Amino acid sequence: MRQPEPLEIGVMFWAGGDPAATLQEVKSLGVRCGQLGIPGTMPLNDAVTAAWKQALEAEQFTLVTVFAAYDGESYADIPTVQRTVGFIPETTRAEREARTYAISDFAAALGVPSIACHIGFIPEDPANPDYKAVREMVRRVADYAARHGQTFALETGQEPARVLLRFIEDVARPNVRINFDPANMILYGTGDPIEALDLLGPLVISVHCKDGDWPPRDRPGALGTERPLGQGSVGIRRFIQKLKQLGYRGTLNIEREVEDREQRLADIRTAVRLLEQIKAELA
Ligand code: MG
Repeated sequence: MRQPEPLEIGVMFWAGGDPAATLQEVKSLGVRCGQLGIPGTMPLNDAVTAAWKQALEAEQFTLVTVFAAYDGESYADIPTVQRTVGFIPETTRAEREARTYAISDFAAALGVPSIACHIGFIPEDPANPDYKAVREMVRRVADYAARHGQTFALETGQEPARVLLRFIEDVARPNVRINFDPANMILYGTGDPIEALDLLGPLVISVHCKDGDWPPRDRPGALGTERPLGQGSVGIRRFIQKLKQLGYRGTLNIEREVEDREQRLADIRTAVRLLEQIKAELA
């Protein structure tokens, strides 16, 4: 696969339909690289892998990350995320670990250098049994990914930057990195994303360009609201400027999670133009 330019604009998108048609739709937004999410219920087998490999070659499209999502996850509100997402729920840990290995194998077959997921809310207390179980699981996944020469990126947002940093230091695996999503820090109310980037910068291997507003103060447990890029509280220009200052050389992956397909595509098109403009201004 072609190596993307530093700060090349990409899109975070999801598998499910025909791979070639999916890539053609993403390319119609004006990008040639991105991150592929695999829904938790999607079968992963040799036929699926072969179809993606062929489509990526035919469309000359570069994947920088394969993202794992897991069956049974829900992002309805913060307590539901705590209960259902990532490596935290005890009853699904074994099946999600096996699934993550399958994602790593799939990514390796496509020549993708990084896998990623939300591991869920990391408890602040290292003595918490969930903390220890998740740390051991992250170590095993990291070691598995390392055998494929991959990084394993943890998505930000569900805990404050200092908690994530301490956890990663405790995991102590050189290929564990961060997929930094500035909007998540706001949506979950965990802290200012630009300050967080100062702390986490050296570990950031990939980013989401997503925007959003803080949670409503009168509804405890509610998430903030995602917004089209440039219309939320992230300060996307400041975000790109900070990435440049830190010497980030990965791609800028636009993520838009609004349900309506047409709206999502229109918002991503607008976001591509916004990022092009910001990059030109900062060049
Ligand atoms: Mg994200």
